[in-house]
Amino acid sequence: MSLVEQVRKAGVVGAGGGGFPAHVKFGSRAEIVIGNGAECEPLLHKDAAVLEHHARDVVRGMELVMDAVGAREGVLGVKEKKKAAVAAAQAACEGSRVRVQLLGDYYPAGDEYDLVFAVTGNLIPPQGISLQVGAVVSNVETLAQVAAAAEGRAVTRKLVTIAGAVAQPSTFEVPLGITYRDLIEAAGGATCADPVLQIGGMMMGRTSESLDVPITKQDAGAIVLPREHKTIERKLRPKPAQARIGRSACDQCRYCTEFCPRFLLGYAVEPHQVMRGLGFTSQGASQWNPWASLCCSCGLCTLYACPEDLYPKEACDDAKVELKATGFKWEGPAPTKPHPFHDGRRVPIERLVSKLGIGAWDRPAPLRPLPQEPARLVLPLKQSAGVAVVPAVKAGQKVKAGELLGEPPAGALGALLHAPVAGRVESVGDAIVLVRG
Ligand code: SF4
Ligand code: SF4
Repeated sequence: MSLVEQVRKAGVVGAGGGGFPAHVKFGSRAEIVIGNGAECEPLLHKDAAVLEHHARDVVRGMELVMDAVGAREGVLGVKEKKKAAVAAAQAACEGSRVRVQLLGDYYPAGDEYDLVFAVTGNLIPPQGISLQVGAVVSNVETLAQVAAAAEGRAVTRKLVTIAGAVAQPSTFEVPLGITYRDLIEAAGGATCADPVLQIGGMMMGRTSESLDVPITKQDAGAIVLPREHKTIERKLRPKPAQARIGRSACDQCRYCTEFCPRFLLGYAVEPHQVMRGLGFTSQGASQWNPWASLCCSCGLCTLYACPEDLYPKEACDDAKVELKATGFKWEGPAPTKPHPFHDGRRVPIERLVSKLGIGAWDRPAPLRPLPQEPARLVLPLKQSAGVAVVPAVKAGQKVKAGELLGEPPAGALGALLHAPVAGRVESVGDAIVLVRG
């Protein structure tokens, strides 16, 4: 069986937050495979833990992908400051065809466009993918899952960090379907009265007021913060208020643009221009919206650059939705070289942590054993980019660990879903609920 088929059957998806079904990427030809261990979201450490504890699997996965796509080169990108992860990665690379490339401690080092440029010096075409410059980029945990897939093991567990306002910040290896409420308890409990989750990280994650959210294949973890935390308050502000404040307070200082990592790479992203559109009707806004079309939603403009605490990232997100609805396609020029200040304006994580107001919670979150395996798992049918799976089981049915629970319709983009444990299917709806035993 080909690697592409093994990976498809194992249900491997991008484990760094993207959730793109991995087998689709590995069916192409490429010159270089890049393992993404940059992990630039503050306070999250699951990729470092993957490297510290499973570096050999990561390197094995990289070599399998290199063989599948015909790549001569394999590069594992890791931040130099993550010493234990670097040491483990370097040891695992000895005698292999993979080398480690040390990365600086800036945000967003893990952005695919940024990482490809850092490793190869090539700029991905606007709205393009890394394959267009001969590169396949995969998260390090995804690559470890590829190695497991080649041995016939499906994705049923993953590593996640639970950090922030918890007694003992930790990274756990958990079955899919465990909830953040269980993880907070495993981390010694919340240390604030009214915790709110920032799932997937402060910068690109989503805010959840509910703790009963299950872990899916794409999740890297969550930051727990008090509801009254200033960044959480900003994130929970209703959208109409965000736009209203932006319309009245934006003074067009351009800081959002000048710090934008895509602008600094040379792409035509200028959030200050998108902000101008807030003052127009939807028809008038359309002339400013294209300045958002190459935005990667990294959040730096809103959470770091804007001195007025406005919402240029959110304005760009809305603009992109409007552009999509009109069938807009980018036809402007491709960048030929980065901005002259590209290196000097990179945002150090330390400064970002300070600006976000999370310095008090910037503590190690090492891998610890999960104190108790959950009795009940909630497995959403949609755990990847593309479509949800069609359930292959019914309520009341007994399943074995690793048994297929659902698969996407034939020909549709998606990823197979398997049972993390043996048990009984309690219910089937938007999620399959599985009770252990
Ligand atoms: S940084 Fe803030 S105030 Fe300045 S142009 Fe951007 S959105 Fe407007
Ligand atoms: S979110 Fe803001 S800083 Fe990030 S790419 Fe988009 S416009 Fe640039």
